[in-house]
Amino acid sequence: MTPGRVLLWACSFGGLGFSLAAAWFGPPAVWVVAVVLLAYLAIVLSGVFFPRLGMYATVHCVAPSSVPALALTFDDGPHPQTTPAVLDILEQHEAVATFFVVGHKVDKYPEVVREIVARGHALGLHGYQHERLFALRRPTDVARDIEQTRDAVERACGVRPRAFRPPIGFVSPRTAAGARRAQAPLIGWSVRAYDGTGHVSPERMLRRIEPGLRAGAIVLLHDAAERDDFVPGAVEALPRILEAIQRRGLTTASLERLLGFEPAKSAEAHSSDVGQRALSHADEPGKPLDAS
Ligand SMILES: [Zn+2]
Repeated sequence: MTPGRVLLWACSFGGLGFSLAAAWFGPPAVWVVAVVLLAYLAIVLSGVFFPRLGMYATVHCVAPSSVPALALTFDDGPHPQTTPAVLDILEQHEAVATFFVVGHKVDKYPEVVREIVARGHALGLHGYQHERLFALRRPTDVARDIEQTRDAVERACGVRPRAFRPPIGFVSPRTAAGARRAQAPLIGWSVRAYDGTGHVSPERMLRRIEPGLRAGAIVLLHDAAERDDFVPGAVEALPRILEAIQRRGLTTASLERLLGFEPAKSAEAHSSDVGQRALSHADEPGKPLDAS
């Protein structure tokens, strides 16, 4: 059981004990009730804001460190200028990365997604519209959003990524339920440079990232700005980040490889899966095809 779930259970039982005590000994002072409720709310929300606690789902924030490799991940792309610039730098350093793409940008720049795949990198999903209040959406909407982004990626390059990093990175109970429904493993990060919401200098980025560069790390960077209105610091800082990785005797690998996930499926593999499911369901009359 994750530390977050232990904390949630402990607080829930504590709350139950508090209610029973109040019923037995009489109601406590209003300020005591307010403090207890606020403390409970803070703990419940900490599970949303700090997904690495694993309060509502398993969120992969670090990979096994058995090999001297880490995962570089880029969010909020693709973008026709900044993503190819990142791809060029990765190629110069023979590095591999995983790009968590935004669905509506995939539909706008499918050729950039094809280039990511053609250059040997992996893809993950990062929401169709990249909504800031994504954590409030119902599980059915979350699952539909994940599938919509998967479909966009499949139209662009023929692969269906599995891994999902929620927009903004918050994981509410609803987000967790929706991701489960879409069979999408949730991905977080172990270190980040906060380069997605405003320009950050390469020096500052390196100061934030360098201490976390170790085997199994999942590094969160951006190959595009959320609203495409500035050039993320990662584009300028990436050569220095890659040199720091090399200096530490580490290499880069895709998240799929580090976490041991099944690779993203090609369109043919997906349709053959559907075919297989159709065949297996043929023996079960009345069972819907999409029920598995
Ligand atoms: Zn993002």
